Amino acid sequence: HANAVHDVDTALLRSWPVAMPAVEGDKEIRGHVLVVGGSAEMPGAVILAATAALRAGAGKLTIATGQSVAQLVALAMPEARVIGLAEHATDGFSMAAFACLDRLAERVDAVLIGPGMCDEPATAELVHALLPRFMQAGTSVVLDACAMGALLHPPAAWPAGQPMRFERPLILTPHAGEMAHLTGIAKQDICALPDPRAVEAARAWNAVIALKGARTVIATPDGTLYQHEGGNVGLAISGSGDVLAGIIAGLAARGAPLDQAACWGVALHARAGERLAERMGTLGYLAREISQEIPALLEQVA
Ligand code: AMP
Ligand code: MG
Repeated sequence: HANAVHDVDTALLRSWPVAMPAVEGDKEIRGHVLVVGGSAEMPGAVILAATAALRAGAGKLTIATGQSVAQLVALAMPEARVIGLAEHATDGFSMAAFACLDRLAERVDAVLIGPGMCDEPATAELVHALLPRFMQAGTSVVLDACAMGALLHPPAAWPAGQPMRFERPLILTPHAGEMAHLTGIAKQDICALPDPRAVEAARAWNAVIALKGARTVIATPDGTLYQHEGGNVGLAISGSGDVLAGIIAGLAARGAPLDQAACWGVALHARAGERLAERMGTLGYLAREISQEIPALLEQVA
C-alpha cells in the first residue's frame, strides 16, 4: 500500500525546530562544515555551497578544493580555511587528497562532498576512501552531484553483483536526471512515480534521499516519506542545487538529524526562492542570492 506522506509545511517545521545553540556558545558548538568539491571549470560550486552552510548557521567552515583553484576560492570566501588538494588530469582529486581529508574527520561535524566535481569514478574512489572515517567519527555526510556516483562505483572490496549500500545513513540530493542515472530507471518513470522510487532507494541504499524537483520528496531509510511543494521555477538555475546541499550540510553541522536537515533545507531553499521572486521577479535571481535569505527565514519559521 502507498506510504503516508507528511507535508513539509510551516506546521511541521514549527513542531520540529532546529535546536538553537546556547547564547554563550562559541563557533565550535555551532558546528564545523567541510565542503569538498570544485574543479577548474566549476570552482564556484563550493563557494555557493559553503556560503549556504554558513547562512544556515554553521559556525566554522573548511573548504577542500583543487590545488589549481584553492587560492582563488580562498579569496572569494574569506570566512573559510581552504585546503588545496592534488588534482588528477581528469579533474578528480588524486588519492593524496585522502590523507589530507582523513585527518579532518575528527574535527568536522558535517561534510558535503560533490559540488562542482566532474570525474565520477575518481570522485567515487575518494568518497569510498573517506566515508568509513567520517562515519566512524559520527560526522554527518551529504553527497551531491557526481559524488552520488559512489553508488555506481562500489569500493574494490565490495562483493561482485551485490548492490551498493551505505554502512550508515547519509544524505543524497539527486534531481530526477541524477536519480535515473543512479537507479537505471528512465527519467520519465522517476518523474511519473517519484514517491515509491525515493522510498525504495532510501531503503536499499540506507540513505535519506531528497529527490528534487518542483515538488521535492524526502524519503528516509525507515520508509518515512515527506513532500515539499513550493519555491518557483526561478530556482531551476545553475548552482541552485549546490546552495541546497550547503544549507542541508550547515543544518546537519549544527546538530540537526539527517531527516530534519533534509526537510528543513528543502523548505528554506524554496522559501528563499519565494522571497527573491517577490522582490526581484520570478526569473533572473541568482543562485548566489538564495543564501542571504536564510537567516531571516530561520527565525521566521522557528
Ligand atoms: P539542481 O538541479 O541540482 O541545480 O537543483 C535545483 C533545485 O531547484 C532543487 O532544489 C529543485 O527542487 C529546485 N527547483 C527546480 N525547479 C523548481 C520549480 N519549478 N519549483 C520549485 N523548485 C524548483
Ligand atoms: Mg545539482
